[in-house]
Amino acid sequence: MNSLSSLDYIQYSRTMLLGDIGEAGQLAIMNSPVVIIGVGGLGNVVAHYLAAAGVQQILLIDHDVVELSNLPRQLLFRASDIGQAKVNIAKSALSDAYPQINIDVLAQPITSAHFNQLVKRFTVKPVVFDCTDNVSARQLINQLCVQHQLTLVSGAISAYQGQLFCIDFSHSHSHSYSGCYCCLYPLDTPIMQNCTQAGVFGPAVGIIASMQALVGLQHICNTFTKYGVLHRFNAQDLRWQYANMSQDPQCEVCHQYPFTDHQERSNDTN
Ligand SMILES: [Zn+2]
Repeated sequence: MNSLSSLDYIQYSRTMLLGDIGEAGQLAIMNSPVVIIGVGGLGNVVAHYLAAAGVQQILLIDHDVVELSNLPRQLLFRASDIGQAKVNIAKSALSDAYPQINIDVLAQPITSAHFNQLVKRFTVKPVVFDCTDNVSARQLINQLCVQHQLTLVSGAISAYQGQLFCIDFSHSHSHSYSGCYCCLYPLDTPIMQNCTQAGVFGPAVGIIASMQALVGLQHICNTFTKYGVLHRFNAQDLRWQYANMSQDPQCEVCHQYPFTDHQERSNDTN
C-alpha cells in the first residue's frame, strides 16, 4: 500500500493528527507485518489494538483452545467460543471488525522449524510480540528474534507484577546493544510462576498489553526511543519502575550473533 484512501483518512484521522506520526506513520503501520505469539490475555489486547490501529498483516500463533477461565481478561472471546481454537476465534472477531485485515494463524506450539518457515513468507521483517505465559517459549522466541534479527516486544505479567521491554535486534536504530531476554534471565533461571499458578487481574494484563501495542506502534512509526529498557509495573500500588538492560558477555544466545555495530562489539570482546 503506497497511499491512503479517503476512508483511511477518516478512520485513522486521530492517529495521523499526532505530529510525529502523520500520514507516513499511518502508512508504516498499514505496511508493517506483525507476529503475535500467544493469544491469551496479552495477545488478545495486543492483536485488537494493532488491528484497530490499521496493521493489515498479522500472524497469530497459539495452540490453546478457549476456556471458561479465560473470559475475565481475554476480551475477544465469548462463552460460546469455549473449546474452539483461540487463533481461529481471534481471527474471526478481528476480521469482522476490520474487514481489510489479513490474518494468518498457526494453531500449534511455536517451534524453530515453524517459525523459520513462517518468517520467510514476509517480504518485510515482521515485528514480533511475545505474549506467551511460560519461560521456555520466551527463551525460544528470544533466540529466534536474535537469529533472524527481528524486533522483539516482550510483555509478561503474573499476580501483580508486570513487565515489558523492546529490543531491536536488526539494529536499524542507533542505540547501544542492550542484550536479550536470555541476558536478563539465563537459561538456567528457575521457572517462574505464570498467571495460571499465581493468578492475575484482567485490567492489569490489559495495561501491559496496551503498553506492548503502544511500544510496537511507536517502533513501526520510528518514534520509539526506549529500546533495551525494562519497564516493571506493580499493579498493587500502581508503581512503574525501569532499568536499562545490558548484555551478559557470557550469554548463550546473543554473544555469538553478528550485529551491525561491529566496532562496539569488537571493543567489548577485546
Ligand atoms: Zn543475550
